[in-house]
Amino acid sequence: MKVYAFPHGGIHFTDPTAPPRKESVVAFLPVLSVIPLTQHAGVKALPLVVAGASVREGMLIGRSQGCGSAHIHAAVPGQVVRMVSWEMAKGVTNEGLIIRLGGSFEQLGKPEERFSWEGLEPREIQQRIIHYGIVEMEGSGRPLEDMFASLNNPLQFETSEPLTLVVRCVFDDPWLVADYVLCRERATAVVEGSIILGRACRASRIIYAVSAREKDLGTMLLAEAQSYAIPASLVLVSSRYPQRNARELELALRSYEKHEIQEKGEKGENLERLALGSLIIQGPATLAAVRDALVLQRPILDRYVAVGGSAVKKPQVMKVRIGTRIGDIFAECGGFTGEPQKIILGSPLSGRRVFEKNLDEPVIKTSYALGALLAKQTGGRVIRNCIGCGECRAVCPVGLDPEALFKGIVVCRGKTKEKQIIGKAVECHGCGCCDLVCPSRLSLSTAFVNAALEDQ
Ligand code: SF4
Ligand code: SF4
Repeated sequence: MKVYAFPHGGIHFTDPTAPPRKESVVAFLPVLSVIPLTQHAGVKALPLVVAGASVREGMLIGRSQGCGSAHIHAAVPGQVVRMVSWEMAKGVTNEGLIIRLGGSFEQLGKPEERFSWEGLEPREIQQRIIHYGIVEMEGSGRPLEDMFASLNNPLQFETSEPLTLVVRCVFDDPWLVADYVLCRERATAVVEGSIILGRACRASRIIYAVSAREKDLGTMLLAEAQSYAIPASLVLVSSRYPQRNARELELALRSYEKHEIQEKGEKGENLERLALGSLIIQGPATLAAVRDALVLQRPILDRYVAVGGSAVKKPQVMKVRIGTRIGDIFAECGGFTGEPQKIILGSPLSGRRVFEKNLDEPVIKTSYALGALLAKQTGGRVIRNCIGCGECRAVCPVGLDPEALFKGIVVCRGKTKEKQIIGKAVECHGCGCCDLVCPSRLSLSTAFVNAALEDQ
């Protein structure tokens, strides 16, 4: 089978400190959970309960403020102890509810009761997905309500235009291992979620975009999908980072589309059926959550999380309740081998650094990885000057010149000519390839992302 890829740049990224691809371990339930009111991109949900209130597992405790917000549910039963707020990176404050575990579970340990979704209209499916607060769990946490709002807007989407739902099972970063394990352990749920979301979006076909080295996984997903009526195909894509980025994935899929139209067009097939049209890209965790929302009528209660890094004694993939403190998760992995210099939520390539020593941040809907890194893994604090080696140019998938961009931003700030250079920073999508290869350990992507924000 042909493998499709973005045209240039990128890297083959390996990290021996990422957790191994073994089956997930279920984490202990936290005695105290911290449920943030913002677990998504956008404005916080409004609290519906106060200190002292009893809550049930899966109960709505934070109401979405509409588009750009999402409902929040209690991940465990118990009693609300108090409201808390804490400072995150860049001066952003988050608020949440502390719940003390108590009472009986309505879902955990009970046989799954299956609800039928097959007779529902697309709008009804959308409403249920919104009701259960489903967000894009692999990325920024964009509420699916926002996606539905643009799909339902005739100015943005013509209903007669084809629409393809792309199931992104692209593991170009070893820190995506939690989603890989989820795909293996919950393949049926991922596929059923894709069929449900395909119906909600009125997609005309579904593509399972799978890293070439996981071809057997792709074959398994496609075989599951064959029992449904919607056309489905498997497209193998490169495992080169950042293949999973929306821009790079779309480039690979457009190349597949061109190839398919050429090949099948020559055999006289209907070309209209081969056009992909607009793409909606979603990952396996989101799709499994969509399935649980419709089939089990339950919100997101837990998340597969990859816990690793050189400072972690026993790296592993864990199934963790939302609201569990990251300090408790590290403790369950045997604690630290030495003092971590960095705690990162997400992949070390693109994740968010947690404030020094703050292990109280909770796992939320979008927490797919959690890393604790020793100084030797972060490269310490030594920063040298650019040596003009050009490595960064060779790996940039967008075709930028990170060296020139960095010098324009840091060295010559404010001058007219350099302003033009800085304007290019908006094209950077922060993949971090240039950071990874830079022998001087310059924080190139951070400088570009910050410059782009200042330029707005
Ligand atoms: S972080 Fe930006 S400049 Fe660096 S390689 Fe990625 S896209 Fe290019
Ligand atoms: S990789 Fe680093 S040292 Fe080499 S040219 Fe780019 S910025 Fe300079």
